[in-house]
Amino acid sequence: MKFHSVAIDGPAGAGKSTVAKNLAKKLNYIYIDTGAMYRATTYKAISLGTELDNPYDYGFLDQTEFIFKNGELYMDGVNMTVLNRQKQVADNVSLVSSHVPVRNKLVRLQQQIARINNVVMDGRDIGTVVLPKADLKVFMIASVKVRAKRRYEELKALGITGQSLEDLIEDIQRRDDYDSSREYNPLRQAEDAILIDTSDISIEEVTKLLYDKFMTKIKGEF
Ligand code: C5P
Repeated sequence: MKFHSVAIDGPAGAGKSTVAKNLAKKLNYIYIDTGAMYRATTYKAISLGTELDNPYDYGFLDQTEFIFKNGELYMDGVNMTVLNRQKQVADNVSLVSSHVPVRNKLVRLQQQIARINNVVMDGRDIGTVVLPKADLKVFMIASVKVRAKRRYEELKALGITGQSLEDLIEDIQRRDDYDSSREYNPLRQAEDAILIDTSDISIEEVTKLLYDKFMTKIKGEF
């Protein structure tokens, strides 16, 4: 049986996760939030006292279980939705995800999931590295201000306060720089990805647009 996939990449706060979640629901596919896997790895590394800048100190990943249920990540049986949003995690996740052994391990897990499920997957390297043969590839962007505002509302909805809009603008800019300039699997638009600027269009419109494009694309197969 052939499984289908949609790859959505872009910088933080471009609306990827909401669009991916909604699209997965509409298609009855599994939503895989790869950023949550890098965040959870960072959380665990901090909890274990790992030397964060040592790429070879992440052996614990071999004994770590990642499971997605209803679009939420459970690491070793624990729901990571709120824990993943801690400031300490946001401050270190780009460093942790720049390590080659960490990326290789998580990319392999992501590919394993997509091999036996229909998925909508979002991240930074999905169209370029994880699922280079995805049926539909999308690269979503938006202005820094719009993205920080979205993050602010997202955190508020989770009951997480304490970071101002200015803090979030700074965090987003710092992670954009880091994610785009890292040597291994940087944030980059795949050549065959559709570029969508979500600054001025609603998440509902983007979801509909992608749903229509995807259906047109796979229609030929039936
Ligand atoms: O998507 P989110 O903002 O939660 O991702 C957190 C961080 O995880 C990103 O800033 C990036 O450093 C890293 N990441 C990555 N590759 C992915 C997904 C996320 O390097 N596929």
